[in-house]
Amino acid sequence: MPAPQKRIRKGNRETADLLITNAEELVTLAGDNQKPRVGKQMRELGIIRDGSLAVKDGFIIAVGKTNDITKKFKSENVLSANNKTVLPGFIDAHSHLIFAGSREDEFQMRVEGASYMEILNTGGGILSTVKETRKASVEKLAAEGLATLDTMLEHGTTTVEAKSGYGLTTKDELKILDAIHRANQLHTVDVVPTFLGAHAVPPEYKGNTQGYINLIIEEMLPKVAEKNLAEFCDVFCERNVFSLEQSRKILSAGNSHGLKSKIHADEMSMLGGAGLAADIGAISAEHLVFSSKENLKAMAAKNVIAVLLPAAALSLMNGKYADARLMIDCGVPVALGTDFNPSCLTENMQLIIALACYLMRLTPAEAVTAATINAAHAIGRTNEVGSLEVGKKADVVILNAPNHKFLGYHFGTNFVDKVVKNGRIAVDKEIDPNKIVHLEE
Ligand SMILES: [Zn+2]
Repeated sequence: MPAPQKRIRKGNRETADLLITNAEELVTLAGDNQKPRVGKQMRELGIIRDGSLAVKDGFIIAVGKTNDITKKFKSENVLSANNKTVLPGFIDAHSHLIFAGSREDEFQMRVEGASYMEILNTGGGILSTVKETRKASVEKLAAEGLATLDTMLEHGTTTVEAKSGYGLTTKDELKILDAIHRANQLHTVDVVPTFLGAHAVPPEYKGNTQGYINLIIEEMLPKVAEKNLAEFCDVFCERNVFSLEQSRKILSAGNSHGLKSKIHADEMSMLGGAGLAADIGAISAEHLVFSSKENLKAMAAKNVIAVLLPAAALSLMNGKYADARLMIDCGVPVALGTDFNPSCLTENMQLIIALACYLMRLTPAEAVTAATINAAHAIGRTNEVGSLEVGKKADVVILNAPNHKFLGYHFGTNFVDKVVKNGRIAVDKEIDPNKIVHLEE
């Protein structure tokens, strides 16, 4: 006699805190995520059609077909994602979250043809933001950071990297990092701190770059490390700012304090920052608009992640964009970020995905990979976020879109229906149809 088939009775279903069911596309990014994705792997999204996931205590406990998940789990909180796309929360791998003031007048100057360096040389640009930020209290900076995080979350971002760099004195750099920490503690979005004291040479050190580098190495870095205020050390490696050798010294000092290296590289000229990133084994190099093929190959060999910032390139208005196709062909892992800052003022990773498609020819799938799992790698959070897999944080976005390709295709809109952060519903845009007023009726 055949053994009776084992049946899971409804009463035996495990209770989950939250179920998300019936997703048209459940974009899991599941797989061997020990290393950032390169080449063809960037197109493998691990999509489950009619997908579901179960959440308990803030973490994902099951992912699969709706049929299978609802046989095993029940919950008082079930979100139907019928006709919707479900993705890991977006990860913004590069932002300058904390600063004071705004620069809309300079924006107009740029529209009228002034270059970034021309504006910088007349005391505008970053230096005008430094002036405002030095005057601002830590409370004010944290409050503005929280408002920015609200907007990021509304657009589906659940983790963001945040750099200092608008203080440029020891006191003010520590103040910004303190504001980043306060924002991280008070907001549901996770904020990962980076020390960027080497963002520019402040006016009081004009003509004495070495003096400022000494200040960074001898005073700032030891205090940042002692107070445990940053995970990464970054440098703006650019002609007339910090040279390759100066950048190497600063990053190596950061390393000796346990801070991993990031580099603003080759944004405005082919200085060779990408090669330096490979040479010192940086976790990432950012911008890379003018990087040489040789240096990109060196990055690929060392698995240095290219954090591409299409909105930053767009805001420079010079028509130059990173060669993302060449990078992917060379085997460089690609990630994305907003570069949110006073001259590139966007919080919206959906826009970044679209710009990456239109301006850098990433496919929608590659752009989604770059904005999730590869971005997680770029900020050292792969074990926690970046994919919808068992054991990871339940950071999930539900989009009012039938598939992930709409992220590039239909641009300039906010597709977010719901955002789940640490297993809790943090954004809910669902409109109660009874509340819509039809004036004609
Ligand atoms: Zn930047």
